[in-house]
Amino acid sequence: MEVLASLFTHELLTNEELGVLAQPNAQRHCTALSKLTRLITGLMLVTLVGCATSPTGRTQFILISPDAAIIESETAYLDTVRQLEDDDKLVNDPLSVARVARITGRLVSIAIADYPESANWKWSVAIVDDAETVNAWCMAGGRMAVYTGLFDQLELTDDEFAQIMGHEISHALANHTAERMSRAMATAAGVAVVGAASDNSGAAMAGAALIANVALTLPNSRDAENEADILGMVLATKAGYDPEAAVTLWQKMGDLSDDRPAEFLSTHPAPENRQAALNAMIPHMLKINPSRDKAPIHPVTIVQ
Ligand SMILES: [Zn+2]
Repeated sequence: MEVLASLFTHELLTNEELGVLAQPNAQRHCTALSKLTRLITGLMLVTLVGCATSPTGRTQFILISPDAAIIESETAYLDTVRQLEDDDKLVNDPLSVARVARITGRLVSIAIADYPESANWKWSVAIVDDAETVNAWCMAGGRMAVYTGLFDQLELTDDEFAQIMGHEISHALANHTAERMSRAMATAAGVAVVGAASDNSGAAMAGAALIANVALTLPNSRDAENEADILGMVLATKAGYDPEAAVTLWQKMGDLSDDRPAEFLSTHPAPENRQAALNAMIPHMLKINPSRDKAPIHPVTIVQ
């Protein structure tokens, strides 16, 4: 297990290692690599990409293909939703549902226009009845959750809510889910989970979904945060929402963290000079959609 862990903790696998992993015949020569290859094959992590490029040109450390990240995220999401359903924690009051569907639906219209591969995503939102939790996320494949604490504690305007969901959706569009899953896999804990679950395919799938869940608890890198700030602001502005709300949103989030840190901030660490960077982007954003025309509302499933 230590060998596996050390292999994974390389920031990037060398070409030689990638070459070995790509050749099944090499399994005979290295027990550790044989096991590793079997685990990855068993988990249907189809593409061992190694590194990829984000929409802003950043190099990404990726061990899992975007399609595989979507499949594993779906399993994790359905498990999460089932649990929320059992605990009677899904919000279905018509006003909240209409507001979330309207704002996320406009963001999704722009997401699909700008990232056509997301047209087939199963865009959906679970509104979680949890006033203590200030959090929101979007997994690979467009599966989202928002916690009522976000609204209750931050008193979000529609523009601010659009900014936060634009930011979350951008994490998914820019393949940050796969990055976080890759990092979860690259830890000893991740390898242990995969190893424990690799004896049969059903368990292996459960293990992979667990990785998707573990990934949700990992912080994004500051570079990924910066990227989601930029892409999210563009998305929300194109959808017809005020770009300056990004600034007030992060101020509110920061003020809240003085007494009790929001869950959100543990997974979204502040990039250097976030406020200054957001402010500097506003003049560019104002040129994108100066009349704030609202985008059409794409149908988004509100999980109930
Ligand atoms: Zn973020």
